[in-house]
Amino acid sequence: MKRVCLINTGGTIGMKPTPEGLKPVPGFLAEQMRLMQELSDEQMPQIEIVEYQPVIDSANMTTATWSQIAGDIAQRYNDFDGFVVLHGTDTMAYTASALPFIMPGLAKPVVMTGSQLPLGQVRSDGRENLKTAIIIAANYVIPEVGLLFGEAMYRGCRATKVSASRLDAFDSPNALPLVSAETAIEIFPERFREVLQPASDQLPLEKMAPQEIATFRLFPGMSHEVLSNVLRRPLKALILETYGVGNGPAHDHQFLEMIHAATRDGIVVVNCTQCRHGCVLQSAYEVGRMLHDVGVVSGRDLTIEAAIAKLMYLFSNESDIAMIRQKVPVNLVGELTPEP
Ligand code: ASP
Repeated sequence: MKRVCLINTGGTIGMKPTPEGLKPVPGFLAEQMRLMQELSDEQMPQIEIVEYQPVIDSANMTTATWSQIAGDIAQRYNDFDGFVVLHGTDTMAYTASALPFIMPGLAKPVVMTGSQLPLGQVRSDGRENLKTAIIIAANYVIPEVGLLFGEAMYRGCRATKVSASRLDAFDSPNALPLVSAETAIEIFPERFREVLQPASDQLPLEKMAPQEIATFRLFPGMSHEVLSNVLRRPLKALILETYGVGNGPAHDHQFLEMIHAATRDGIVVVNCTQCRHGCVLQSAYEVGRMLHDVGVVSGRDLTIEAAIAKLMYLFSNESDIAMIRQKVPVNLVGELTPEP
């Protein structure tokens, strides 16, 4: 019989209504799962639940819990066919972006999911998401951290939450789904990432620690003073959320000089577009080229979540700033589309 380990970190899926609002309650998820007869169907694997203490709203997620999830998977790696990680939707895309960097040699499916409505509610989307995640984790060899929500499983480090209310709350604007879960489950192996590490029964883990990084969204009328406060040490890296294919107000001398001073000082400035879809191309316009010329590095089509995870990973494992800058636009774990 197939075996799946289900790690419950919290999130709406296992929450209970209380006078203060929806809250995670220990043991509630397992209680709700016992009421789901489909989980004892013969097509279903044996499921072992690991519940975190405390179970949390994912707004309280930390990088320590990212590493805890990876550590729990590594510890049980040979005992299960696959893993399901239950997680709140609010920060699921951040965790799904971080885990591939922590587990670059992953060769088994890790399927993250959650729901917009708690399992205990009549119209909950959690039951379908949970069953589909378990079936995928048990039956398919997918060397990826996936984010399954509704009818698609996306690569985790390409996914982003796009709706606070729709049941298909996630999208992967720059990478096609790894699995389609409509009436039939269809996997697309040609879209799976290439695992560079040799297959092993060990799952080595990389370091991931909080870092002094920030994001700054450009907008007409932004304050130079606010930006200069952001660009102060201890800042190590800034994700500059630019217009279109990576453009900024490069004719604003004060702005350009502030960015230049930061890059000269060793702050890594990464160009990510504000657009949901598309890739940064700093050579397309003069105002993008000028950012490149003052040392801004292209984040290509990284989501903001993946850019944050990647910078945290790079600063946790490298001390050479030139090396970090060089790795930003390079594909490491499927997080971006490399330059052709
Ligand atoms: N606030 C919840 C969480 O992220 C939202 C959800 O799970 O849908 O934990």
